[in-house]
Amino acid sequence: MTQSIKRPPSYRGRFAPSPSGYLHFGSLVSALASFLDARKNQGSWLVRIEDIDPPREKAGASNVILNTLEAYGLHWDDSVLYQSQQTARYQAIIDELSHKKLSYNCQCTRAQIKAAGGIYQGHCRDLALADQHCAIRVKNTAGTSSFNDLIQGKVSCDPALAQEDFIIRRRDGLFAYQLAVVADDIYQNITHVVRGCDLLEPTCRQLSFYQILNATAPQYAHVPLAVTEQGYKLSKQNKAPAIDVTKPQASLIAALEFLGQCPPNELRDGTVDDIIQWGISHWQRAAIPRKTQIHIC
Ligand code: GLU
Ligand code: ZN
Repeated sequence: MTQSIKRPPSYRGRFAPSPSGYLHFGSLVSALASFLDARKNQGSWLVRIEDIDPPREKAGASNVILNTLEAYGLHWDDSVLYQSQQTARYQAIIDELSHKKLSYNCQCTRAQIKAAGGIYQGHCRDLALADQHCAIRVKNTAGTSSFNDLIQGKVSCDPALAQEDFIIRRRDGLFAYQLAVVADDIYQNITHVVRGCDLLEPTCRQLSFYQILNATAPQYAHVPLAVTEQGYKLSKQNKAPAIDVTKPQASLIAALEFLGQCPPNELRDGTVDDIIQWGISHWQRAAIPRKTQIHIC
Protein backbone atom coordinates (compact mmCIF):
# COMPACT_ATOMS: atom_id res chain seq x y z
CA MET A 1 0.00 0.00 0.00
CA THR A 2 1.38 3.39 -0.90
CA GLN A 3 1.45 5.83 1.90
CA SER A 4 0.39 9.29 1.00
CA ILE A 5 2.31 12.09 2.60
CA LYS A 6 -0.04 14.42 4.39
CA ARG A 7 1.01 18.00 3.83
CA PRO A 8 -0.35 20.90 5.80
CA PRO A 9 -3.02 22.68 3.76
CA SER A 10 -1.66 25.64 1.87
CA TYR A 11 -4.89 27.52 2.43
CA ARG A 12 -6.33 28.20 5.88
CA GLY A 13 -9.18 30.63 6.10
CA ARG A 14 -11.37 31.73 8.98
CA PHE A 15 -14.50 33.56 10.04
CA ALA A 16 -14.07 35.55 13.24
CA PRO A 17 -17.36 36.99 14.53
CA SER A 18 -17.65 39.05 17.69
CA PRO A 19 -20.60 37.89 19.80
CA SER A 20 -21.97 41.41 20.17
CA GLY A 21 -25.15 40.27 18.41
CA TYR A 22 -26.54 37.65 16.05
CA LEU A 23 -25.49 37.23 12.41
CA HIS A 24 -27.04 39.72 10.01
CA PHE A 25 -26.92 39.77 6.22
CA GLY A 26 -23.51 41.53 6.18
CA SER A 27 -21.93 38.94 8.45
CA LEU A 28 -23.46 36.13 6.38
CA VAL A 29 -21.79 37.62 3.29
CA SER A 30 -18.37 37.58 5.04
CA ALA A 31 -18.89 34.08 6.43
CA LEU A 32 -20.03 32.70 3.07
CA ALA A 33 -17.25 34.40 1.08
CA SER A 34 -14.50 33.18 3.41
CA PHE A 35 -16.01 29.66 3.47
CA LEU A 36 -16.42 29.36 -0.32
CA ASP A 37 -12.98 30.82 -1.04
CA ALA A 38 -11.41 28.30 1.35
CA ARG A 39 -13.34 25.31 0.05
CA LYS A 40 -12.79 26.22 -3.61
CA ASN A 41 -9.05 26.19 -2.82
CA GLN A 42 -9.22 22.86 -0.94
CA GLY A 43 -8.45 24.81 2.20
CA SER A 44 -9.47 24.55 5.82
CA TRP A 45 -12.03 26.94 7.25
CA LEU A 46 -11.95 27.80 10.93
CA VAL A 47 -14.31 29.68 13.19
CA ARG A 48 -13.02 31.91 15.95
CA ILE A 49 -15.26 33.66 18.43
CA GLU A 50 -13.79 37.08 19.22
CA ASP A 51 -15.16 37.44 22.73
CA ILE A 52 -12.59 39.72 24.34
CA ASP A 53 -14.84 42.71 24.92
CA PRO A 54 -17.41 41.55 27.50
CA PRO A 55 -19.17 44.94 27.84
CA ARG A 56 -20.15 44.75 24.15
CA GLU A 57 -21.25 41.11 24.20
CA LYS A 58 -24.78 39.82 24.06
CA ALA A 59 -25.50 36.86 26.31
CA GLY A 60 -25.89 33.64 24.34
CA ALA A 61 -24.80 35.19 21.03
CA SER A 62 -21.84 32.83 20.49
CA ASN A 63 -24.08 29.78 20.51
CA VAL A 64 -26.67 31.40 18.30
CA ILE A 65 -23.95 32.37 15.79
CA LEU A 66 -22.56 28.81 15.72
CA ASN A 67 -26.03 27.28 15.34
CA THR A 68 -26.79 29.70 12.53
CA LEU A 69 -23.59 28.80 10.67
CA GLU A 70 -24.51 25.11 10.97
CA ALA A 71 -28.04 25.73 9.72
CA TYR A 72 -26.58 27.61 6.75
CA GLY A 73 -24.36 24.65 5.83
CA LEU A 74 -21.17 26.47 6.81
CA HIS A 75 -19.41 23.61 8.61
CA TRP A 76 -16.04 24.46 10.08
CA ASP A 77 -12.87 22.42 10.64
CA ASP A 78 -11.13 21.91 13.98
CA SER A 79 -12.64 23.17 17.19
CA VAL A 80 -13.87 26.70 17.63
CA LEU A 81 -11.27 29.00 19.19
CA TYR A 82 -12.62 31.39 21.84
CA GLN A 83 -10.47 34.46 22.32
CA SER A 84 -11.59 34.75 25.93
CA GLN A 85 -9.56 31.59 26.57
CA GLN A 86 -6.40 32.87 24.90
CA THR A 87 -5.48 35.73 27.18
CA ALA A 88 -2.29 34.13 28.57
CA ARG A 89 -0.94 34.08 25.01
CA TYR A 90 -1.88 37.74 24.46
CA GLN A 91 -0.21 38.72 27.73
CA ALA A 92 2.95 36.84 26.71
CA ILE A 93 3.13 38.94 23.53
CA ILE A 94 2.70 42.11 25.56
CA ASP A 95 5.43 41.00 27.96
CA GLU A 96 7.79 40.23 25.11
CA LEU A 97 7.20 43.58 23.43
CA SER A 98 7.74 45.33 26.72
CA HIS A 99 10.94 43.36 27.30
CA LYS A 100 12.20 44.43 23.87
CA LYS A 101 11.23 48.03 24.65
CA LEU A 102 8.80 47.96 21.75
CA SER A 103 5.83 49.08 23.83
CA TYR A 104 5.06 51.70 26.45
CA ASN A 105 2.40 52.89 28.85
CA CYS A 106 0.23 55.77 27.76
CA GLN A 107 -2.11 57.84 29.88
CA CYS A 108 -3.50 60.13 27.18
CA THR A 109 -7.25 60.28 27.02
CA ARG A 110 -9.28 60.14 23.85
CA ALA A 111 -10.29 63.77 24.41
CA GLN A 112 -6.64 64.86 24.66
CA ILE A 113 -5.73 63.07 21.44
CA LYS A 114 -8.75 64.57 19.70
CA ALA A 115 -7.78 68.05 20.88
CA ALA A 116 -4.26 67.49 19.50
CA GLY A 117 -5.61 66.75 16.00
CA GLY A 118 -6.93 63.19 16.31
CA ILE A 119 -3.69 61.32 15.65
CA TYR A 120 -1.61 60.07 18.57
CA GLN A 121 1.79 61.75 18.35
CA GLY A 122 3.74 59.53 20.74
CA HIS A 123 3.37 61.86 23.72
CA CYS A 124 4.13 59.15 26.33
CA ARG A 125 6.78 57.25 24.33
CA ASP A 126 9.70 58.32 26.49
CA LEU A 127 7.94 59.03 29.76
CA ALA A 128 8.37 55.53 31.27
CA LEU A 129 5.02 55.82 33.04
CA ALA A 130 4.12 53.35 35.75
CA ASP A 131 1.46 50.77 34.95
CA GLN A 132 -1.56 52.21 36.75
CA HIS A 133 -4.51 53.43 34.68
CA CYS A 134 -2.50 53.32 31.49
CA ALA A 135 -3.13 51.86 28.08
CA ILE A 136 -0.24 50.05 26.40
CA ARG A 137 0.85 51.17 22.95
CA VAL A 138 3.22 49.44 20.56
CA LYS A 139 6.01 51.48 18.98
CA ASN A 140 4.96 51.40 15.37
CA THR A 141 8.32 50.91 13.70
CA ALA A 142 6.70 49.54 10.52
CA GLY A 143 4.16 52.19 9.49
CA THR A 144 2.58 50.12 6.70
CA SER A 145 0.41 52.47 4.63
CA SER A 146 -0.70 50.32 1.68
CA PHE A 147 -1.20 46.72 0.66
CA ASN A 148 -2.47 44.61 -2.21
CA ASP A 149 -5.91 43.21 -1.61
CA LEU A 150 -7.02 40.14 -3.57
CA ILE A 151 -10.38 41.80 -4.35
CA GLN A 152 -9.91 45.54 -3.94
CA GLY A 153 -6.44 45.79 -5.57
CA LYS A 154 -4.02 48.35 -4.14
CA VAL A 155 -5.41 49.81 -0.93
CA SER A 156 -3.91 52.92 0.68
CA CYS A 157 -4.55 53.88 4.27
CA ASP A 158 -4.33 57.31 5.88
CA PRO A 159 -0.53 57.76 6.17
CA ALA A 160 -0.72 59.58 9.52
CA LEU A 161 -2.88 56.83 10.98
CA ALA A 162 -0.53 54.20 9.52
CA GLN A 163 2.39 55.68 11.49
CA GLU A 164 0.53 55.91 14.78
CA ASP A 165 1.66 53.94 17.83
CA PHE A 166 -1.53 51.98 18.44
CA ILE A 167 -3.10 50.51 21.56
CA ILE A 168 -2.55 46.83 22.23
CA ARG A 169 -4.00 46.77 25.74
CA ARG A 170 -6.70 49.17 26.74
CA ARG A 171 -6.73 51.32 29.82
CA ASP A 172 -9.51 49.13 31.24
CA GLY A 173 -7.14 46.14 31.01
CA LEU A 174 -8.86 44.49 28.05
CA PHE A 175 -6.73 43.34 25.12
CA ALA A 176 -7.16 45.34 21.94
CA TYR A 177 -8.74 43.82 18.84
CA GLN A 178 -5.57 44.55 16.77
CA LEU A 179 -3.45 42.50 19.12
CA ALA A 180 -5.82 39.55 19.48
CA VAL A 181 -6.70 39.25 15.80
CA VAL A 182 -3.06 39.21 14.68
CA ALA A 183 -1.95 36.94 17.54
CA ASP A 184 -4.63 34.40 16.62
CA ASP A 185 -4.22 34.58 12.86
CA ILE A 186 -0.55 33.74 13.47
CA TYR A 187 -1.38 31.05 16.06
CA GLN A 188 -3.92 29.39 13.76
CA ASN A 189 -1.62 29.59 10.71
CA ILE A 190 -4.19 31.55 8.74
CA THR A 191 -3.07 32.14 5.16
CA HIS A 192 -6.11 33.98 3.78
CA VAL A 193 -8.34 36.51 5.52
CA VAL A 194 -11.60 37.12 3.66
CA ARG A 195 -13.77 39.69 5.46
CA GLY A 196 -15.80 42.87 5.03
CA CYS A 197 -14.46 46.23 3.85
CA ASP A 198 -15.18 47.79 7.24
CA LEU A 199 -11.80 46.27 8.16
CA LEU A 200 -9.82 47.70 5.21
CA GLU A 201 -8.23 50.55 7.17
CA PRO A 202 -7.29 48.42 10.23
CA THR A 203 -5.50 46.04 7.84
CA CYS A 204 -2.57 48.47 7.51
CA ARG A 205 -2.21 48.45 11.27
CA GLN A 206 -2.40 44.69 11.38
CA LEU A 207 0.27 44.43 8.67
CA SER A 208 2.51 46.74 10.70
CA PHE A 209 1.97 44.53 13.71
CA TYR A 210 3.02 41.40 11.77
CA GLN A 211 6.24 43.18 10.87
CA ILE A 212 6.87 44.24 14.45
CA LEU A 213 6.34 40.62 15.56
CA ASN A 214 8.54 39.30 12.74
CA ALA A 215 5.71 37.12 11.45
CA THR A 216 4.43 36.43 7.95
CA ALA A 217 1.11 38.10 7.23
CA PRO A 218 -1.78 36.34 5.49
CA GLN A 219 -3.24 37.55 2.21
CA TYR A 220 -6.30 39.74 2.52
CA ALA A 221 -9.47 39.80 0.44
CA HIS A 222 -12.10 42.36 1.45
CA VAL A 223 -15.65 41.88 0.23
CA PRO A 224 -18.01 44.85 -0.22
CA LEU A 225 -19.90 45.98 2.83
CA ALA A 226 -23.69 45.70 2.79
CA VAL A 227 -25.10 49.14 3.61
CA THR A 228 -28.66 50.36 4.02
CA GLU A 229 -30.25 52.67 1.49
CA GLN A 230 -29.20 55.59 3.68
CA GLY A 231 -25.59 54.37 3.54
CA TYR A 232 -25.36 52.92 7.03
CA LYS A 233 -23.35 49.78 7.61
CA LEU A 234 -25.46 46.84 8.69
CA SER A 235 -24.16 46.11 12.10
CA LYS A 236 -25.05 44.45 15.32
CA GLN A 237 -24.80 47.89 16.93
CA ASN A 238 -27.40 49.49 14.67
CA LYS A 239 -29.65 46.50 15.23
CA ALA A 240 -29.60 45.10 11.69
CA PRO A 241 -32.11 42.25 11.62
CA ALA A 242 -30.67 38.81 12.35
CA ILE A 243 -30.83 36.40 9.43
CA ASP A 244 -33.57 33.82 9.75
CA VAL A 245 -32.18 30.53 10.99
CA THR A 246 -35.26 28.65 9.77
CA LYS A 247 -35.07 29.91 6.15
CA PRO A 248 -31.44 29.73 5.10
CA GLN A 249 -32.02 29.12 1.38
CA ALA A 250 -33.26 32.58 0.42
CA SER A 251 -30.54 34.39 2.39
CA LEU A 252 -27.82 32.16 0.94
CA ILE A 253 -29.00 32.89 -2.61
CA ALA A 254 -29.15 36.62 -1.84
CA ALA A 255 -25.63 36.49 -0.37
CA LEU A 256 -24.31 34.66 -3.47
CA GLU A 257 -25.86 37.32 -5.70
CA PHE A 258 -24.46 40.09 -3.53
CA LEU A 259 -21.03 38.51 -4.07
CA GLY A 260 -21.45 38.67 -7.86
CA GLN A 261 -22.04 34.94 -8.28
CA CYS A 262 -24.97 33.99 -10.52
CA PRO A 263 -26.91 31.12 -8.99
CA PRO A 264 -29.42 29.60 -11.46
CA ASN A 265 -33.11 30.06 -10.73
CA GLU A 266 -33.76 26.40 -10.01
CA LEU A 267 -31.27 26.54 -7.12
CA ARG A 268 -33.94 28.48 -5.21
CA ASP A 269 -35.78 25.19 -4.74
CA GLY A 270 -32.62 23.37 -3.67
CA THR A 271 -31.54 22.32 -0.20
CA VAL A 272 -28.94 24.21 1.81
CA ASP A 273 -26.36 21.62 0.82
CA ASP A 274 -27.28 21.97 -2.88
CA ILE A 275 -26.71 25.71 -2.63
CA ILE A 276 -23.42 25.35 -0.78
CA GLN A 277 -22.16 22.73 -3.24
CA TRP A 278 -23.13 24.93 -6.19
CA GLY A 279 -21.40 27.84 -4.46
CA ILE A 280 -18.15 25.92 -4.01
CA SER A 281 -17.95 24.57 -7.52
CA HIS A 282 -18.94 27.86 -9.20
CA TRP A 283 -17.10 30.22 -6.86
CA GLN A 284 -15.27 32.97 -8.71
CA ARG A 285 -13.40 35.42 -6.57
CA ALA A 286 -12.91 37.58 -9.67
CA ALA A 287 -16.70 38.05 -9.99
CA ILE A 288 -16.98 39.83 -6.63
CA PRO A 289 -17.69 43.53 -7.29
CA ARG A 290 -14.61 45.65 -6.65
CA LYS A 291 -16.53 48.07 -4.49
CA THR A 292 -16.12 48.85 -0.84
CA GLN A 293 -19.86 49.00 -0.25
CA ILE A 294 -23.13 48.01 -1.91
CA HIS A 295 -26.55 49.37 -1.03
CA ILE A 296 -29.24 46.86 -0.20
CA CYS A 297 -32.85 47.65 0.60
N1 GLU B 1 -14.37 40.18 15.09
C1 GLU B 1 -14.38 41.15 14.02
C2 GLU B 1 -15.81 41.57 13.74
O1 GLU B 1 -16.74 40.86 14.05
C3 GLU B 1 -13.81 40.61 12.72
C4 GLU B 1 -12.37 40.35 12.79
C5 GLU B 1 -11.74 39.95 11.49
O2 GLU B 1 -12.38 39.35 10.63
O3 GLU B 1 -10.56 40.22 11.35
O4 GLU B 1 -15.98 42.65 13.20
ZN1 ZN C 1 0.11 58.99 25.75
